[in-house]
Amino acid sequence: MLTIDKDYIKNKIQNELLIVKKEIKELKENSKPITPDCILDDIGREEAMNEVRVNAQILEKVEQREKNLKYALSHVNDKDFGTCIVCGEPINIERIMVRPESVRCVRCAD
Ligand SMILES: [Zn+2]
Repeated sequence: MLTIDKDYIKNKIQNELLIVKKEIKELKENSKPITPDCILDDIGREEAMNEVRVNAQILEKVEQREKNLKYALSHVNDKDFGTCIVCGEPINIERIMVRPESVRCVRCAD
């Protein structure tokens, strides 16, 4: 098994968290409810409402990712960090590098 560079992973997670926080801030700004006094025809209104809905869905996913990243950050030093929670096999190192919040291996992810 390859050893995981925990400091590298920690840095990586912290960087990801910064990006995610920025995304959440932007999404929150874009998912504000439409004010009734804004001038939109029916189609425009519908489009705007769709956008708000889509943004809200993305926001939910990003917030979930933030939670996962925070969880990963607090467990980097655990001896079973990088172990699949389903099959107990080590998670591919490249997968951890790309998505440090991964708790499942590639085989168990789907
Ligand atoms: Zn697995």
